[in-house]
This record gives sequence, structure tokens and C-alpha cells, in this order.
Amino acid sequence: MRLPENFVQEVLDRTNIEELVGRYVTLKKTGSNLVGLCPFHSEKTPSFTVSPDKKMFFCFGCHAGGSAITFVQKAENMEFVDAVAFLADRAGLPMPRESEAHAPGESVSRKRVLEANLEAAKFFRACLFDPAIGAPGMAYFREKRGLSDATIKHFGLGYAPDTIGSLTDYMHKKGFTDEELQVAFLCGKSRKTGRSYDYFRGRVMFPILDTSGNVVAFGGRVLDDSKPKYLNTSDTPAFKKSNHLFALNFARHSGAERMILCEGYMDVIAMHAAGFENAVATLGTAITPNHARIFSKYTKQVVISYDADDAGQAAAKKAMQILGEVGIDVRVLRVEGAKDPDEYIRKFGAERFSRLLDASRTGFEYQLDTILKRHDLSVGQEKIKASSELCAVIAEYSSAVEREVYLAEAAKRLELPIEALRNTTEKIRRKKYEDYRARESRDARATIKNFGDPINPEAAKDPKAAATEEAIIGMLLMFEEYRREVAAGRILLEPTDFITDFYRRVFQAILKLQNSEQGFAFAMLGQDFSPDEMGRIQKAEMARRELTQNGPQVFRSTVENLRALSEAARNKDADLQTRLENIRKSKLHKRKGQDE
Ligand SMILES: [Zn+2]
Repeated sequence: MRLPENFVQEVLDRTNIEELVGRYVTLKKTGSNLVGLCPFHSEKTPSFTVSPDKKMFFCFGCHAGGSAITFVQKAENMEFVDAVAFLADRAGLPMPRESEAHAPGESVSRKRVLEANLEAAKFFRACLFDPAIGAPGMAYFREKRGLSDATIKHFGLGYAPDTIGSLTDYMHKKGFTDEELQVAFLCGKSRKTGRSYDYFRGRVMFPILDTSGNVVAFGGRVLDDSKPKYLNTSDTPAFKKSNHLFALNFARHSGAERMILCEGYMDVIAMHAAGFENAVATLGTAITPNHARIFSKYTKQVVISYDADDAGQAAAKKAMQILGEVGIDVRVLRVEGAKDPDEYIRKFGAERFSRLLDASRTGFEYQLDTILKRHDLSVGQEKIKASSELCAVIAEYSSAVEREVYLAEAAKRLELPIEALRNTTEKIRRKKYEDYRARESRDARATIKNFGDPINPEAAKDPKAAATEEAIIGMLLMFEEYRREVAAGRILLEPTDFITDFYRRVFQAILKLQNSEQGFAFAMLGQDFSPDEMGRIQKAEMARRELTQNGPQVFRSTVENLRALSEAARNKDADLQTRLENIRKSKLHKRKGQDE
């Protein structure tokens, strides 16, 4: 039985991978990841990592990796469908019955979901402006957040009444079926009666528009302290969280040379109201490489404006890295004298905020300040610590020119000779590379011992081709845009260009998902690949993320490399065929001669 993608996605959304894995492995926090001893091979030092942000796990020792589903498959020795059922049960979601396995989702079109969303947006807005119903919502927008009616209308804000069936009844009257409402994520389905109920209740509503002006989703915020504070539409046939930015429909027309990345919907709205129409936010998720690609389409510079608290700062650091990866000039806003930009604008005015934007620091300046602030440089030991932390930061930049510029800056601030810092930085880079090679060769040794690579047996014949293929698969997994370009034929890459059968299969599966109505989702590869194969696919992505630049130029040239390699292999093949043919002919000829 094949499960509908939106159901699998919903199960994953509701699964806390940290808690799930934590039942099998003792995990320790390091940065944004968790590490522990791998449950799938025996080891003394932990090389098993879990990333709650990416909802993934990966073992650097045995290359086990994948989503929560893959983890359950391996840990409980289950098939894909059974692992999904196991997680669905923990999340309190009923499994779709066999007859429904292809629906819902595939039977309701994107067009119908968009129509439902538009009608629902009208309903929420009418509720907000009806004093008998929308008073709590209005009080929040007008009084608590100081929004004008013009701003409220500009963003099409609304209110979802705290009732079970207001929206459902309204939508039924407009001709929408229960299935359509459930697929659009506007209604839930009662486990007892099977009937629809309003999904958003007692919340102020933020419609999310795509760049063509369609209402693709909603975000709803509670007005009290109940949880979750924000409820967002899950993925539907018309919507994927990581493909959208809130207010991008306005921001891309703002004519500004930069965009401002805010933490939430209200921050964005406050900025727009103050005249900064280039502000956007992600939709209740951390920023992904996909978002970075979207930004790079519309702007060269992004100013990150996250909260000053620890969580906000950790998120800013992550965003800096992801945006920097696609070549965006990343800046970080430093707000002083107010708790957030909204308060700053109200206190000091838009003009001063504009100057603040101009003075925002580059990613490196921001990290430099953060590190120097933590250490008392008059104490020798502290100065050494600060300098090695800084060198580790500088070592992350893959451009030698950038490293040189930052080394000069760090040397000046630390009052240390630049040569000393340069040496440390290069040592860190070498060590990183050697570590990676050591891991690789350990893997290679294990492979030889097992008489070949069981997952990709052809890799041994042509390691260069296999490495190139792995790089391409890694980048395809990371970036929606590359998948789209390849699927549309704008970047020429065919299954026949792949030399190893394994990566050809992976490529075909990625394309198939990309072309499906639901779009691509990593976890869905689990339907066609074993847990061990999933680990290998995950490794392709990890290797790219860890070490390399992944811009469009790099992707295109890697694809070119592979096409050249397979062309050469084909020619060699053809050459061999011709030579064999010639030998055969000449033998035939000889024999003929002997016969005569
Ligand atoms: Zn392992």
C-alpha cells in the first residue's frame, strides 16, 4: 500500500525526533544537534547525531541516517508502512484505510484548495470586522499591536471564531465537500463521527499569499496562553512551508535592494506599516536552504532581524550560515534601546530605524562582536580562547579572500599578529579536511573488507563518477530550485547520464516525486529504498552541507562533469564494441582464408 504524502508529512510534523530517538539512545546536546552512541553499530565515541531542526538523524560511523521513519524501520525492524503506522499511533493519527490510500490529497486539486482558501479568507475577514464575533481579534490587532484598519485590510487579516463548526457550515453552503476542506487543512476530521470540524478556533488569522496573489495557507495565533501559540497550515496540494515566505508578495515589489528577515508575522506587519515593505518571515519554521534560494532570486542582501534572546540569536547564526551558502550578503541588525524592531520604530521613528539598517553588521562582524563580548581580553588565557574561537569561525569561510579580510580584522581587534591567526586558521581547515578523509577512507576500508559496496556495487568500478553523482544527488536534495530546473529540462540531466545504477534509481525517484502533485519530500523516498539505502542518500546530502559551496554555478558544473564522464564511458564502450567487432571480423576473415 502506498501512503499519501501529506499523511506521511503530517506524521513527521507531529513526531518529535529527539524524544523518539531518546527512547533508544542517550543523547547529549552540542550546538543545535544532539549526539550519542550509535544504536546500529558498536562504538566507544559517539558519532551518531540527531538534528531536531532538520528532523533527521545520521551516523558518521556506519552511515545510518534518514527521517524518524527510517529510524523506526531500523530500530524496530519494520517495513516503511508499518513504521509510519507506529509513529501515527504515537501521534494519535488514524492511518488512512486501504481504499483511501490514494486519497485524500491526490483527488483534490490544487485549484480547488486555492478556491477553498480564498473563500475561507473572506470568512475570517468578515468575522473580524463583525463586532459581535470579531471583538477579541480586533482588540488584539488595534489595541495590543497598534495596527491601523488600513494595515489590517492590506494584509487581509481575520478572526476564526471559537466554535466547532462556523467555518465548516459556511464552506458547505459555498459548495465545498468535507474531503476538500480536510485536504485544504481548513478542517479536521472527528475520530468519533468522521465529520469535519473547524481547525482554527479562537485565533487571529494571517492569510499567506504566494507571489501570484493566491491564498495558499493560513497562520493562526491564539489570544491567550494556550498551546500551540501559532497554528499553521500543513503541506497541502497547494502549499509547502519551505517554498514560501510571508509577505514576499509585497516585498518583491518594494524596489528595495535588500530584504529584512523577521521572526514572525507580527514583526513583518509592523515593519510594513512603518514603511519597510521589504520585510518577510518564514512560516513558523526555521530558515531552510530552499528559503535561501528564494531570497537569492529577489535580492542580494538580507538583514536578519531576530529577537535579542538566546533562541533568536541561535536562529540568527543558523540563518546567516544558510543564506551565506548561496552567496547572499547577510547582515545582522543590532537593536539597542528597545526589545525589538517594532518597539524601536515606535520609540525612535522610521528614519532612525532606516539608519540602523544601513549600519547593520556583516555576519562576520556580528560573530566577532559576540565572541569578543564573552571574553575579557586583558586576561591572557581569555584572549587565547577568544582567538581560537575566532579562527574556528574564519576557517568556515571557503573563500581565501574572505578569510584574509576577516583575519586582518580579527588581528586588529585582538592586537595579535595576523600570521599567528592565519596559521591557526589553516591548521583548523586542514584538520577538518583530514577528518573527513579519514572518515571516508575508514568507510572505504570497510567496503574492501566486505568485498565491495553492497549498496552501490558499481561505485568501485568508477569512484570518480560515483562521487560526482553523490554530489549532484546531495545538491538536488538540498535545493528545490535545482530539482525544478532539472525536472523542467532547463538544466540538462537525464537518468542515462548516471553511471551507477544506485544513484540513477535515486535520481529517478527524486524526479518522480518532484513531478507529482504533492511535490518532493525526503521521507517519501523511504517507500522505494531500504533503510540502509536511505542512510546512503542522507549521506549524499550531509557531505554537501558539511564541507562545500552549493551555488548554482557549482551545481551546473558538477552536472557538466557527470555528463562528460558518462559520454566518455559511452565512447569507451562504443570503442570497445568496435574493436571487438573488428577482432571478430578479422578472425572470421582468417577462418575463411583457412577454409579456402
Ligand atoms: Zn552507526
